Amino acid sequence: MLHYKRKISYLKGTFNNNFLELRYRQGSFRNDLDVNRLAFFLIAVVSILFIQNDEVLLRDTFPLTRSIEIRSVFAVFSVCCILLLSRVNKFYHYDLIVAFWLVILICVLVFFDLSRPPEYQIYVLIDMLVIVGIYVLFVFGLRSQTLMAVGFTVVILGIVFWFKEFPNHVVVTIMIGFILSNILGFVLASRFHYLKRVDFFQRRELSQQAQRLNRAALRDPLTDLWNRRSYDDQILGMFDNFKRYQQPFSLVLIDIDFFKRVNDTYGHLDGDRVLKEFATLLKRSARPGDQVFRYGGEEFVMLLSNTTLTQAEIVSERVRKKLKQTHLLEKYPELNVSASFGVADVQGEDTNTRSIFHRADKALYIAKQSGRDQVVIAIDDD
Ligand code: GH3
Ligand code: MG
Ligand code: MG
Repeated sequence: MLHYKRKISYLKGTFNNNFLELRYRQGSFRNDLDVNRLAFFLIAVVSILFIQNDEVLLRDTFPLTRSIEIRSVFAVFSVCCILLLSRVNKFYHYDLIVAFWLVILICVLVFFDLSRPPEYQIYVLIDMLVIVGIYVLFVFGLRSQTLMAVGFTVVILGIVFWFKEFPNHVVVTIMIGFILSNILGFVLASRFHYLKRVDFFQRRELSQQAQRLNRAALRDPLTDLWNRRSYDDQILGMFDNFKRYQQPFSLVLIDIDFFKRVNDTYGHLDGDRVLKEFATLLKRSARPGDQVFRYGGEEFVMLLSNTTLTQAEIVSERVRKKLKQTHLLEKYPELNVSASFGVADVQGEDTNTRSIFHRADKALYIAKQSGRDQVVIAIDDD
């Protein structure tokens, strides 16, 4: 659980493993989308609200109508990006749209910065906020975010140096302010990227662990077949389908003949191997949709969906013959394993799944009584 620290690069803000990073991004960008849509919307609204101030801020240097045009176009562009983001389902499309929107935002800001009267200073504060915003609000990649924020800083500082006439101490303060904004933004963003990936990694570990436990709870460890617990679940589901939609199914109860002798002759370990090989044979004989369970010991169940009693008998007979022709353990060619089969199908009168199993069990008993190595179908229930 604790080894995620080595898996995440603090400087790059990504998983070191590309596959993990792709999985993370593909899952996480949908949450980021919501934050970004809100950010697009708020910044577009703020941009429109600034029209009111433009008359004062721009004074005679720039016609107000042009400012209204530019801000309106930016707002419409933002709305288009919000709509586009709603339709995105790949993270690199998301990255592209967010990066494109940011580039346009930066162009608009630079354009207005250039249009302000030279002595006007407050805009640099807004630009510093934007820099922190690029790091914190947009999470399409620490490297791209840094590149964009630093690029923006360089352009703004260029404007401050060449187009404005601030006193030296103001220029120095502005520079320090921009450097600090970048450092603050970078540290925050790298922490965010890191913590979000830690969270993703821990959730992933937990869900994998839950899957493993789930699997262990439903599988038989020796044969890797479904176990009795999953048999109970599955037959209940099939019974439900039968009651609702009249979808028939059959149950085949299989018991290996004289298995005790196998253990006594070859030992329990080879007995286990026989069980494993037998399970493999059953799995291979099953058709798609059929399910094979280890019911317990050397008893197995096949649940055959959409299968009538006659069809189930044919399937069982095929498995029985195949078993006869197979040497389960190569090292003991003299070992011939047979099994007895009891077959039953679901009936309209059944009120629970136990009665179906009971019929199959009775049929199996008859198969054993009649000399084993045979398939017996259940005729009626009394
Ligand atoms: P029948 O033809 O009447 O079914 O005879 P059988 O010997 O197969 O039946 P019985 O119920 O007398 O014996 C079943 C044997 O299966 C006894 C038990 O030791 C063995 N067995 C049950 N589970 C396992 C297992 O996981 N591994 C091994 N090796 N043997 C098992
Ligand atoms: Mg038995
Ligand atoms: Mg047996």
